[in-house]
Amino acid sequence: MKYFILFGPPGAGKGTQAGAMVEKYNLKHISTGELLRSEIAAGTELGLKAKALIDAGSLVPDEVVEGMIESKFNTVKDVNGFLLDGFPRTIAQAEALDKMLEGRGESVTGVVSLMIPDEMIKERIAHRAAIEGRADDANIETINNRIKTYHEKTEPLIAFYQEADKYYEVESMGTIEEVRELVFSVMDNL
Ligand code: AMP
Repeated sequence: MKYFILFGPPGAGKGTQAGAMVEKYNLKHISTGELLRSEIAAGTELGLKAKALIDAGSLVPDEVVEGMIESKFNTVKDVNGFLLDGFPRTIAQAEALDKMLEGRGESVTGVVSLMIPDEMIKERIAHRAAIEGRADDANIETINNRIKTYHEKTEPLIAFYQEADKYYEVESMGTIEEVRELVFSVMDNL
């Protein structure tokens, strides 16, 4: 099994690129954000708790998303691997992932990082808000806090995966097709 991580700041195009990636390499796409939004839509207790944090632009507790990831690893079969989108988002989550994979005799295959400059993040989110109607894309305070959370808690993962020699960065400023080709050229070698 291959374990790819799709990394990048909010609005970098992770969700947009994921579809083509899972199709080409026969992967299961696991987006913790999407899983959490389904919990909210279903009105579960977990969803209710997560909603307040998501609406504030904060992270939900590590254990919550780690449990979601592990249950997918345990149940999804018939794929060549997984594409983790939006997870890990903290060093603690990355360490938990390493442990989970170690227990299965596996390890992270590579991190494909979609990078855009800070000033583009808000533009991209505004564009997505008009299309997808996500509540956390509509409020400027939420967006600002998500950017702050990214820098404080998620960005340190770049060094974490660079040290492990698993970090591959792609400029995500071009068209969807241009970025897709750059992503494929990285993944073809992993
Ligand atoms: P996303 O769809 O990846 O932008 O995630 C939307 C929101 O869900 C984030 O702003 C967080 O509040 C929450 N979330 C998604 N993934 C994680 C994660 N790995 N750890 C903590 N919170 C997460």
